[in-house]
Amino acid sequence: MEDCLFCKIVAGEIPGDMVHVTEHTVAFRDLNSQAPTHVLVVPRDHYTNAAELAAADPAALAELVTTAAAVATAEGYDDYRLVFNTGAEAGQSVFHTHLHVLAGRPMTWPPG
Ligand code: AMP
Repeated sequence: MEDCLFCKIVAGEIPGDMVHVTEHTVAFRDLNSQAPTHVLVVPRDHYTNAAELAAADPAALAELVTTAAAVATAEGYDDYRLVFNTGAEAGQSVFHTHLHVLAGRPMTWPPG
């Protein structure tokens, strides 16, 4: 997908601080970290959001979650928060499906 930041990171055209790479997913550290561990897990294929990915490729959506769990474990955390922002009003700023993995500090509820 032209002009998609995360497609460019997946393709290696823009550098990412990679922490985990699988056949279908890429995980890299968020540039604007909101926790001691803040990693984004993205599918290699371009979908706008989590629901689109789920409709098109349920197994790929599941792999985002299993990859996120592997990232948290590798970073030494049993407890973590997973977030899919969907739509600008919900805080989505990059329109390529991505799962935020946040860990390493107490999380409050409700989120802001
Ligand atoms: P969202 O706001 O849910 O769409 O999340 C997009 C995330 O991408 C934000 O948390 C940004 O800090 C992060 N981000 C933007 N550009 C980059 C980049 N080049 N490398 C890593 N993370 C990025």
